[in-house]
Amino acid sequence: LVEIRGLSKCFGSNIVLNNVDLSINKGDVVAIIGPSGTGKSTLLRSINLLEKPEQGTITINNKEISFTTKSSKEKLELRKNTEMVFQQFNLFKNRTALENVMEGLMTVKKLKKKEAKEIALKHLEKVGMSDRLSHYPRHLSGGQQQRVAIARALAMEPELLLMDEPTSALDPELVSEVLVTIKKAAQEGNTILLVTHEMNFVKNVATRIIFLENGKIVADGTPKEIFESPKSDRLKDFLVKIH
Ligand code: ATP
Ligand code: MG
Repeated sequence: LVEIRGLSKCFGSNIVLNNVDLSINKGDVVAIIGPSGTGKSTLLRSINLLEKPEQGTITINNKEISFTTKSSKEKLELRKNTEMVFQQFNLFKNRTALENVMEGLMTVKKLKKKEAKEIALKHLEKVGMSDRLSHYPRHLSGGQQQRVAIARALAMEPELLLMDEPTSALDPELVSEVLVTIKKAAQEGNTILLVTHEMNFVKNVATRIIFLENGKIVADGTPKEIFESPKSDRLKDFLVKIH
């Protein structure tokens, strides 16, 4: 589904992604783990054209992404296929929960209001937000906002759902409700590429784990392989530190 080849990205002299190769199959739930500043967000942002890599190619469904495109139409087209959920929720502040989910369906997918509403209601129900449809983000808890953001992303039926530390801005007691929502999305067959520090979640939900360090993929395997027989010393150190 997604093929990343030789992806490199620098900020000045800082090499943040160093020749990254990565293939993602349909239905994969890939967790990216690794120390801070190692390029995890930059990798996700590159796939979503929020960063412009210097080298490499990304193809989604055999269609190559052009990093140099200035056409906002082309960017929108891409992002429709690669919806992203951010740490800070990023909901439209002046729109209700329902309007947040309807927005992209109407502006990007060009659906009629009635149709958009139907789809939005379905997805808000799935994330357990049916009783908060008319609430504005400021009247929702962090966990509720993030569930709306996930509903908004899934409503677009993206080929690939990108999530960058979706639970790390939440109060501890709100983390599990969001993880449950992500787990459900995974079980429904969505293809997900997610950065997270929630190791129990990674163990139980991810089909594959990638350990990124200094812009390189140091390990790539199933949760069993990564946790039970980590091959690199760097990975072992990391796993010890986070426990
Ligand atoms: P964290 O776990 O802390 O979120 P990360 O693995 O997501 O870290 P990135 O955000 O991808 O790391 O950042 C990788 C490196 O790139 C860091 O050294 C960071 O300082 C640098 N960097 C990221 N964005 C920019 C930018 N816009 N300009 C300059 N440097 C940047
Ligand atoms: Mg990050």
